[in-house]
Amino acid sequence: MARDYYGLLGVDKGVSDTELKRAYRKLARQYHPDVNPDEAAQAKFKEISAAYEVLSDPEKRRIVDLGGDPLENGGGNGFGGGFGGFGGLGDVFEAFFGGGAASRGPVGRVRPGSDSLLRMRLDLTECATGVTKRVTVDTAVLCDRCQGRGTNGDSQPMRCDTCHGRGEVQTVQRSLLGQVMTSRPCPTCRGVGEVIPDPCHQCGGDGRVRARREISVKIPAGVGDGMRVRLAAQGEVGPGGGPAGDLYVEVHEQAHDIFARDGDDLHCHISVPMVDAALGTTVTVDAILDGATDITIPAGTQPGATIVLRGHGMPQLRTGARGDLHAHVQVVVPERLDNHDTELLRQFKAHRDRETAEVRSAHAPQSGGLFSRLRETFTGR
Ligand SMILES: [Zn+2]
Ligand SMILES: [Zn+2]
Repeated sequence: MARDYYGLLGVDKGVSDTELKRAYRKLARQYHPDVNPDEAAQAKFKEISAAYEVLSDPEKRRIVDLGGDPLENGGGNGFGGGFGGFGGLGDVFEAFFGGGAASRGPVGRVRPGSDSLLRMRLDLTECATGVTKRVTVDTAVLCDRCQGRGTNGDSQPMRCDTCHGRGEVQTVQRSLLGQVMTSRPCPTCRGVGEVIPDPCHQCGGDGRVRARREISVKIPAGVGDGMRVRLAAQGEVGPGGGPAGDLYVEVHEQAHDIFARDGDDLHCHISVPMVDAALGTTVTVDAILDGATDITIPAGTQPGATIVLRGHGMPQLRTGARGDLHAHVQVVVPERLDNHDTELLRQFKAHRDRETAEVRSAHAPQSGGLFSRLRETFTGR
C-alpha cells in the first residue's frame, strides 16, 4: 500500500506548492522535537517531514499521483530512518526560509525521466478477453542530434561562473532564529554546476525532444476500471537524455448494455412472464466470453429470485478463474387481459380457491416479505 502523503499533511491532492509549504510549516511548528520532545510527536514529525519531502519534489509527487510510493524499495529516506535521516533541520529551514541550510552540491545534468499516464477505454468484452491496441503517446525522447549530450557538435559544457560549479548560491538572512545561511539552486545553471555555451540546435541543450510515437499495448484478460498496466521505460526520457520513466496505461471500462460488473461477478435482469415463472422456462442470454447461454428458470420461481451461473462471470486477472453470472428475476404480471384470458384465470382461481390475498407481518421470517428478503441478502441465507 502506498502511504497517504497528502493525508499526513492534511491537504488535498491538487494542493499548490505554497499551500503545501504552509501546511507543513504549521505541523512542523507543532511537532518539531525542539518544541515537542514527546516520542509520539517525534515520530509524527518524521512522518510529516518525509511526506513534505516527497510532495515538494515534483518527480516524487508524480509517482505518488500515479499511485506509487517513491520511498518504497529504498528509493529514499523512509519513515524508519533515525531522526535527521531525511535531512533533519535542513528541511525545516527550507520550509521556513525558502532555501536549504544543508549543502547539497550540484545536481546531475542527466536525470531519470518521469513516468507518464495514458487512459484507454475498453468495453466489458475487451476487459474479459484482453486486447492488444496501438496507442499514440506524446513523450520526451532522446535527441538524436546530440544523443542527449545537449551540446552542439564537439563543443563542451563549461563550469558555471555564477556558482563556480557548486550548483547552489548562498545568502544570509536575518530571522527570528538569528542569522541563517540559506542556499538555493543556482539560477544560471539551475543547480547543475555547468552550462552549455553552444547548445544543440535541435533540443536547446536539454538532450531530449518531444515526439509522438505509436506503440502496441497488451492489456491482459481480467482487467477492470482504474487498473494500470505498466510499460517499463516507455515514459519520458529524462533531462540530459536520462533513462526513460515508465508509461502507465489506465483502463477506463465502459458500461455494458446488459451486464453490470461487480469484481469478477456479472449481474443482469431477466423479466419472466407470470405464467412462465409458475411453469418454468428457459431464457437464452448472450454471455460475455460464452456466447449464447441458457438460463433455466425453474417452475415456481418467485419475483426477486436470483439464478447463479457459476463460472460464467469475468476471468480473474491473475488466475483466470471465472466469477459468476447472477440473473435477477423480475416476474411480469400481465397488465391487460382479454375475455378469454380472464376466463382462463378465473378457472385457475376456482381450482385454487383457498389462496387469497392476506396481510402479513413485515417481520415474519418465512413470509418472503420485504425485510426477510433483505435479511437473506445480507446474511447470504
Ligand atoms: Zn540535442
Ligand atoms: Zn551555476
